[in-house]
Amino acid sequence: MKKCPICNRGNLKEGKIEEEMFGVVLGRFKAEICTKCGESFVSSETMKEIEEKAKKKGLWGLAEKVKVVKSGNSLVIRIPAKIAKFLKLRMGAELLIYPEKKKLTVELV
Ligand SMILES: [Zn+2]
Repeated sequence: MKKCPICNRGNLKEGKIEEEMFGVVLGRFKAEICTKCGESFVSSETMKEIEEKAKKKGLWGLAEKVKVVKSGNSLVIRIPAKIAKFLKLRMGAELLIYPEKKKLTVELV
C-alpha cells in the first residue's frame, strides 16, 4: 500500500472527493485519500477532468490580478468584465465590502 507523503503515517486509499471552484461544486472525482490525515491526491488525468468541468461552467481563469488606484481619499479596484458577467453585476448594484485576514470580501447584497 502507498504511504501518504504528507503525514507519512496513513495509507492512500481509492475514493472520491468533491471539488469546487469559487464556491461552485464541480462534481465528485476519483482520488487517493489518506486514511490518517485525510489529504487527497488526484492524478494528472483527473486534474484535466476537473479543469474541463471548470471551463464548461465558465469558472476557468476567472481569478485575475488587479491594481489598486487612487480616487480622492479612496482606493479603487476594477472588477474585470468576465467577473462582472459571471456575477451578473451591473452598474449601480449595491455591494457589501469588508476586510478579512489578508483578504478583501465583496458581497452582493
Ligand atoms: Zn496523510
